[in-house]
Amino acid sequence: MQSEIRNMSIECDKVGGINLSQGVCDLPLTDVLRQGLNEALDAGYNHYTRYDGIDELRQQLANKTKHFNGFKVDPKTEICVSAGATGALYCACYALFQPGDEILMFEPYYGYHEHTFISLDLVPVYAKLTPPNWDYNLDELEQLVTEKTRAIMINTPSNPCGKVYSEKELDELADFAIKHDLIVLTDEIYEYITYDGRQHISPGSLDKIKDRTITISGYSKTFSITGWRIGYSIAPAQMNEWIGAANDLLYVCAPAPLQYAVAKAIEGLDDSFYDKMRYDYKHKRDMLCQTLKDVGLTPYVPQGAYYVLADVSCISGNNSKERAMWLLEKTGIGVVPGEAFYKNAEEGKKMVRFCFAKDADVIEQACQILLKNQNKWR
Ligand code: GLN
Repeated sequence: MQSEIRNMSIECDKVGGINLSQGVCDLPLTDVLRQGLNEALDAGYNHYTRYDGIDELRQQLANKTKHFNGFKVDPKTEICVSAGATGALYCACYALFQPGDEILMFEPYYGYHEHTFISLDLVPVYAKLTPPNWDYNLDELEQLVTEKTRAIMINTPSNPCGKVYSEKELDELADFAIKHDLIVLTDEIYEYITYDGRQHISPGSLDKIKDRTITISGYSKTFSITGWRIGYSIAPAQMNEWIGAANDLLYVCAPAPLQYAVAKAIEGLDDSFYDKMRYDYKHKRDMLCQTLKDVGLTPYVPQGAYYVLADVSCISGNNSKERAMWLLEKTGIGVVPGEAFYKNAEEGKKMVRFCFAKDADVIEQACQILLKNQNKWR
């Protein structure tokens, strides 16, 4: 069975539509990555690497973590390069938890988090984020904790709702994690994509929880290389060793020449690259959100990442899948049904997720189509 996210890409391809469903960024490859990859191939980097990644990449990740995320990491003992952030999360869960352990996560959530837990017989426990600000409720979290709770999963900026956790929220969640002796799993794959002056804050940068935080990220989104599968985890040395053993067992290592190219790119690109990316995404976010507002598909304007959840309850249908399929049929625009991100389906029923990690022309074209077709649902 494939995820609903992938499923909608397939449905969209069938009709040759504009795919704003799966978060596949089809932006061009940065030159420095191409050069790095060519160099790696010329140098014959075709073989296994260390199970936790090549020295150059771990060193670059440590430099980047200090510079961007604001905390120090030992590249020799605290980083494990893996097969994408998804691989890194799987290894961390495989290494650190036992069947039956409960993991708190926020809803709406990214389905791969939920399914990673379930596939390892871990039990996801859902805490609600309430729109439009996607606030969590600490009292609810307190009520959900049991003696089996081992971890809390944070995703900042979040897929699908674009929440960027504030310092105050993270500080409160840190105290909560300490109080209940929880591991903090934090997926920060969209870390460079934040809007309106909001700053990305890594839970791992909070001293009081550094010893219990597993930071997960990667370069799929930042460098638009979702198919390269270069991600990593950062964890305290003992946990990193266990995670590394899992990574060795499951993947042996991440793809060798691609590790090399990513290391070169991190080294070669300065802040202006990331600033421009943020600026470009903001332009696309604003264009799409304004259009969604104009056509009556009310968006929850995201604070970060490159997705927008929109209320499509004015489209007739029994659930969000029917609404998404109707939208695809009438407009040729592919989106993901909201239920893919909700356990309590009621909430998800009226929402769909649009992805704007596309060329600006494609977003513009989609906006024109929405404007032209609005009488079909208004
Ligand atoms: N992270 C992307 C999304 O949410 C892609 C997911 C996938 O297909 N693995 O759309």
